[in-house]
Amino acid sequence: MPVSGAAQRPRSERLYERAQGLLPGGVNSPVRAFGAVGGTPVFFDTAHGSRVRDADGREYVDFCQSWGPLILGHADPAVVSAVQRAAERGLSFGACHAAEADLAALIVAGYDGAERVRLVSSGTEAVMTAMRMARGATGRPLIVKFEGGYHGHHDSLLVKAGSGLATTGLASSAGVPDRIAGATVVARLDDEESVSAVFAEHGDAVAAVIVEPVPANNGLLQQRDEFLDHLAAETRRAGALRQRDEFLNPLPAEPRRAGALLIADEVISGFRLRYGASPAAARLQPDLVTLGKIIGGGMPIGAVAGRAALLEQLAPVGPVYQAGTLSGNPLSVAAGIATLDALTDPARYAELERLGAAVEQAVRTASPAGLQLIRSGSMLWPYYGTDRPRAAHQIADAAIARFNGAYAGFLERGLYLPPSGFEVGFLSTAHTAEECRTLAEALLAAG
Ligand SMILES: *Cc1c(COP(=O)(O)O)cnc(C)c1O
Repeated sequence: MPVSGAAQRPRSERLYERAQGLLPGGVNSPVRAFGAVGGTPVFFDTAHGSRVRDADGREYVDFCQSWGPLILGHADPAVVSAVQRAAERGLSFGACHAAEADLAALIVAGYDGAERVRLVSSGTEAVMTAMRMARGATGRPLIVKFEGGYHGHHDSLLVKAGSGLATTGLASSAGVPDRIAGATVVARLDDEESVSAVFAEHGDAVAAVIVEPVPANNGLLQQRDEFLDHLAAETRRAGALRQRDEFLNPLPAEPRRAGALLIADEVISGFRLRYGASPAAARLQPDLVTLGKIIGGGMPIGAVAGRAALLEQLAPVGPVYQAGTLSGNPLSVAAGIATLDALTDPARYAELERLGAAVEQAVRTASPAGLQLIRSGSMLWPYYGTDRPRAAHQIADAAIARFNGAYAGFLERGLYLPPSGFEVGFLSTAHTAEECRTLAEALLAAG
């Protein structure tokens, strides 16, 4: 039996039993239930820096870091004190306050071409808003996404590929109507032909292509520059909005037809690899960027950024409606500002790179036959396979099974990794070189 069971974690076991009677599956987000790796979910009690302590008093080095937001580690003192100071001045205003523009300015500074920012409360909401803006601005219905890309849990993007190339999508969740799934087309990463086929078939109807520039929600599927360039060129060709900035200004009373927009979903990758845009996102020169995770420093947040002419499609200036009771709330904004302020120091990224390289180097030096550490900066994907997948269908089931089978052993060594072989791990500036070596050893031992 896996060692992550009742014997080692009796309190987690009891808490999980109670939660199962009150929360569906005992959780508020499905991957937390340990379905992929088996055993009882670890119930966290406290977390500081790189470390978490569970309800049974066991300590782990955390390489999940809340799935990416905590680039400075858990409970970073500057972030916590910013949130405390904000909390004392009011938890939510539902009205304008000065810090909203401060955070927007920090975001705009990281994204070339971004002039306006709309803050929302999650990455899902940011993507939903970006898609609605794209449809509103272009007067076109279809969204193109990529197989294995994750953009949040709203209806339009819980969609998998249909049988043929360039066909509209099928719902990947119950409860998504066919008509909504059918407004999304699914293409393949790392496959120029699939992108061309989508535009050949649907070009005039495409409102936007949404892509994770560094796809990191279904393994870490690093894309070739040629593929990114092809994607940007095809999207541009489908309407050439960039040459027609005047189209949106003055804003048309009726939405007019324009070209397809490119949406870079940087909810994970934004501010992760360097301050602002990931290199892949910068290469794409997207029309809209969606953000979340790091820009909230561990508090709930999301954002859409882009040119003024496009963002001012949003209410109250333009015809595309969007609103939020807690949007721009002072606590999330304070945590985001404190985090981005810290990240303006390039030394933080140099340190993250040093730590990531140490894990990679340790794995490579041991030259294991069946383990690759696929890495972008401080995002790590241990992959127990020999090839290097760049598209979802290339991921080997056996590689995922091997990670999942080794998971209880990671916990036993005091390492908390994301509980699924499809998920990417994260380093923070609070990790140490020693902890990174321990991670490499554990990964190798499982290989
Ligand atoms: C996490 C994530 C989302 C969803 O953000 P939530 O805050 O969980 O709603 C969307 N897109 C990408 C690329 C993500 O990594």
